[in-house]
Amino acid sequence: MASSSSSSSATIPSSSAFSPKKELTCIHCKSKSTTFITGWPLGDGSVAQLCHRCGSLYEKGSFCETFHKNTEGWLECAICKKRLHCGCLVSKAEVHFTFFGKLCCKDCAKKMIRG
Ligand SMILES: [Zn+2]
Ligand SMILES: [Zn+2]
Ligand SMILES: [Zn+2]
Repeated sequence: MASSSSSSSATIPSSSAFSPKKELTCIHCKSKSTTFITGWPLGDGSVAQLCHRCGSLYEKGSFCETFHKNTEGWLECAICKKRLHCGCLVSKAEVHFTFFGKLCCKDCAKKMIRG
């Protein structure tokens, strides 16, 4: 099976490895599923759970472009010109501000830190 091993910031307490499949509701489209993709941090310690459809859009970085296209808050990364949805919880982890007050995306911020 295609189980991605990307669990970068999982803070889920290690429960028994043999847990029954729980049916969860997608935070975005409210569809029920047992296979979920981890989304953005919700700010209260939990993480958004997304169905496969919404989750794959999030992983591709096109969640906001798809669902929030007509909302306000769109700005460009000053470095790579990638469009960023500012003030949006979904893109919160993607948007960084440089020391010079310019907006930059997570990738560019990472590059700057590394030099
Ligand atoms: Zn969904
Ligand atoms: Zn958004
Ligand atoms: Zn950038």
